[in-house]
Amino acid sequence: MYTVGSRSHELGLCKPCAFIFKDGCLSGENCKFCHLCQPGEKKRRRKERLAQRRAAVERRHLSSSCADGDEAPHGEPLQQQEEDEEEEELQSQPEL
Ligand SMILES: [Zn+2]
Ligand SMILES: [Zn+2]
Repeated sequence: MYTVGSRSHELGLCKPCAFIFKDGCLSGENCKFCHLCQPGEKKRRRKERLAQRRAAVERRHLSSSCADGDEAPHGEPLQQQEEDEEEEELQSQPEL
């Protein structure tokens, strides 16, 4: 169901509704949370953010002349990667 909160879904800025997968959401279309997101969306987002951050760091290494504006690329579609294991590894690295 497309809700008020789903407007930012395609931008990746929406907040998944916590009720829609439980008892159902009573707010319906007026819900300010997103009903389009899948149950694992929150986790997926976090991993995507991690991957993006890593990509940003790599980009910075490649072109050190890029001064500012490497946060939140506008208009660029999010790249969905399936490299779950790799990111898990990155997370579990102990800090020295
Ligand atoms: Zn959503
Ligand atoms: Zn809802």
